Amino acid sequence: MERESLLNPGSTIGIIGGGQLGRMLAIAARQMDYRTVVLDPDPGCPSGQVTDGQIAEPYSSRDASRELARSTDVVTYEFENVDADSVSAAAELAPVHPSASVLRTTQHRLHEKNALLKAGVSVAPFRHVQSLEDLQQAGVDLGFPMVLKTATEGYDGKGQEIITRAEDIERSYESLAARKTELIVEQFVPFKMEISTICARTADGQTATFPPSENVHRNHILDVSIVPARIPDSVTENARLLAADIATQLDVVGLISVEMFVTKENELLVNELAPRPHNSGHYTMDGCDTSQFEQLVRVLAGMPIAEPKLHSPTVMVNLLGEVWVDTDGDPDWARALEMPGVSLHLYGKAEPRVGRKMGHINVVADTVEDALYIATEARDRAWRRSR
Ligand code: AMP
Repeated sequence: MERESLLNPGSTIGIIGGGQLGRMLAIAARQMDYRTVVLDPDPGCPSGQVTDGQIAEPYSSRDASRELARSTDVVTYEFENVDADSVSAAAELAPVHPSASVLRTTQHRLHEKNALLKAGVSVAPFRHVQSLEDLQQAGVDLGFPMVLKTATEGYDGKGQEIITRAEDIERSYESLAARKTELIVEQFVPFKMEISTICARTADGQTATFPPSENVHRNHILDVSIVPARIPDSVTENARLLAADIATQLDVVGLISVEMFVTKENELLVNELAPRPHNSGHYTMDGCDTSQFEQLVRVLAGMPIAEPKLHSPTVMVNLLGEVWVDTDGDPDWARALEMPGVSLHLYGKAEPRVGRKMGHINVVADTVEDALYIATEARDRAWRRSR
């Protein structure tokens, strides 16, 4: 495989999408003196506050993505619901990583599942749903419960229905079919744990995988990531190998985040891929010697990637809008930061809304149990809640 040209510090990285992932990527880039330009329509977006430049146009504008490519040395994107055609337009003028083809695969659940099957990766049994009859047949084939999902534009549990009995099929179908996107239904996996791992892959095919995190969701939104995940070492190793295999088979250059279910038999079933940094990898900012964001900068620049190591048990808790809403916009950060090993990361979002990701706290401690206790306590203190 051809080696990407090396971009030295001083070169410019273009980022499509101005959320917190772009912001943290831009901060990591700045540490190594790379410049960044973000494409996002919102002039006050989290990334735009820290990048060197911003193109305040819609993501779907091909002219804007071409302008981004022209003004930068390499382009990436920080969320999947970006228009793949505008990513392809950028790719005519600058290298784009991961490729538009990886984006197309991962932004459509059906394409993603088929690509995983082709790569020999285990996933929950699923069916493509094009009609009510398809869903009824899936009920017979897969059994209950099953999870009906929109094939595109679903995240944080949006566009999902759990169907527990045949009588609910019609109502669930009506509710999701109204979204006018393709549907997929999966067997419900009675997992014992959800984990994820992030693999970096370079243009010349080297891979390096971050330690898997154990993820706890609340209302379908990531709440807590615990590292090391409390699973046998053999499962951890399998997860890392699986992520590297997926990165290689999909020919990813950049990061690929792999969300998996761990079954009671310690089998791994892949649920979802994201070709970008991931919320469950925020722990790497304080728990590893190289963060997921630094690793991505290295890949984009064609620099050697690190073999990331966890230096201490680390727990991340998300800070959602409710922490602000419940405290009249005045969380008690001073009390949170009294706790040992706490790092506070805030995303600069002006408007807190319930369920909106506003920041996170990382806690590094001697044991996972201590980190978990301190992280939860720190968040409760900021939230002015007592347990
Ligand atoms: P997703 O949008 O696919 O990441 O799903 C969001 C969350 O819904 C996952 O993190 C799981 O907690 C749950 N979920 C999704 N698919 C399934 C499934 N097939 N079986 C059990 N739980 C699921």
